[in-house]
Amino acid sequence: MSAIDTVISALKSGVSGTITVAGDAGYDGARAVMYGGFDLKPGVIFRPDSAAGVQNAVTIARDAGVEIAVRSGGHSNAGHSSTEGGLVIDLRGLKAIELDVAGKTVWAETGVTAEELTLATTDKGLVVGFGDTGSVGIGGITLGGGVGYLARKHGLTIDSVLAAEIVTADGMLHRIDASNEPDLFWAVRGGGGNFGIVTRFKYRLADIPAFTGGMICLPATAETVAGFVAAASAAPEELSTICNVMPAPPMPFLPAALHGQLVILGMLAFAGDDAAAQKAIAPFRALATPYADFITPGPYMSMYPPEDADYHPTAVAKTLFMNRIGGTEAQQMLDTLTRSDATFRVTQIRVLGGAVARVPADATAYAHRSAPIMVNVAAFYTTPADKVKQTVFIDGYAAALTQEEKGAYVNFLGAESPERINAAYPAMTLERLRRIKRQYDPGNLFRLNQNIVPAD
Ligand SMILES: Cc1cc2nc3c(=O)[nH]c(=O)nc-3n(C[C@H](O)[C@H](O)[C@H](O)COP(=O)(O)OP(=O)(O)OC[C@H]3O[C@@H](n4cnc5c(N)ncnc54)[C@H](O)[C@@H]3O)c2cc1C
Repeated sequence: MSAIDTVISALKSGVSGTITVAGDAGYDGARAVMYGGFDLKPGVIFRPDSAAGVQNAVTIARDAGVEIAVRSGGHSNAGHSSTEGGLVIDLRGLKAIELDVAGKTVWAETGVTAEELTLATTDKGLVVGFGDTGSVGIGGITLGGGVGYLARKHGLTIDSVLAAEIVTADGMLHRIDASNEPDLFWAVRGGGGNFGIVTRFKYRLADIPAFTGGMICLPATAETVAGFVAAASAAPEELSTICNVMPAPPMPFLPAALHGQLVILGMLAFAGDDAAAQKAIAPFRALATPYADFITPGPYMSMYPPEDADYHPTAVAKTLFMNRIGGTEAQQMLDTLTRSDATFRVTQIRVLGGAVARVPADATAYAHRSAPIMVNVAAFYTTPADKVKQTVFIDGYAAALTQEEKGAYVNFLGAESPERINAAYPAMTLERLRRIKRQYDPGNLFRLNQNIVPAD
């Protein structure tokens, strides 16, 4: 019997959960991930319905020597949440949310998405910040850090994590927090899926009594892009922003003549009352006459509009930090985006600071606390040859933007060279992660991730 057949038969004989293999009606749907370009065919997709199911699956795959991919929301842009021929442990069956409204905490299983948890908590006037996309799994985003619309006010997602439950390579389930196995607790806050499979997280919740936010579309010039960054940096911490410089999509509210022209699609999120929000947002509105302005008071959930489940873009991307974006850098961005022949390309700018920067660099495995600006550059590709071409373009673009601040945010890394792990983790952080990896996963069972190699 092959190793994968051994795993399938062991799962079938008594492990509780859903098993999907090639030939089953739901196989193609179950193996699909968010990004296009990853047509991997797992030997089996197992969807456990309890932490015990995760423990059994880990033990069975480890003993059979079968590769494990871990899937929460399926948004890995490196294709890490699937495997060719191996076992996918698909956490989407783990959806329990235990909300303690009085204590302002929540335990959430890692099959839950950012949108699902945000809906459950904001319904009670409470919130934990995730990213800009509701369908991202809380598993992947939390393990890497979590940079979102509440970052400047409440920090990264990991800054709200109080505890976690994790199945390690030996099949044991650990409840970890600042007092219990603190090293492992430190590592899962930024170190990704290297240390085991987190079955649930406990988050501290913040009040969100009022919120104003939405999208503003502005002309993209060197002045407006640099002005956006300056306004975002000077804004009160209640305001977090994302500035997307990109060709205007054919959105019905934009005149046809604008479609394809570079614009700023800015996302503004103000966690506070509307009078203060209006004051904070005014400098952005003053940059130029907006083409569209949908910033309005409303529920925080409005930042997560409905998504198209059939959207599977093929894209290459690179993430970096920058120290400053003034007129020169903004013009460089506009020139580069104009030169590109990619069907779609974008430069995404996130001004950080605030609560993100107040956490000491060694307090979590996300160490880039003082980096002031995160930038992602991305281009869509259409064919394998175009992928090569767009990769060269994106690599060159990212290199040209690089300033003194080196480093990368692990959750935005793609399938890049192992050296990029050194960009994600400064030397001291990486050394500590490698020691913890050796302790909990010496055989590197969990290696389909931005991999931290166990210390020698
Ligand atoms: C459209 C889009 C928008 C995004 N926006 C943001 C953003 O605003 N802010 C931000 O910080 N990030 C953002 N990201 C990046 C995102 O945080 C990462 O891609 C993250 O890994 C996705 O998590 P997932 O659970 O959806 O993905 P998955 O593909 O399911 O998981 C990714 C990897 O994480 C690990 N993993 C996931 N769950 C577990 C678990 N429970 N236990 C152990 N390991 C696990 C595995 O190694 C897995 O391969 C975005 C990504 C996309 C595609």
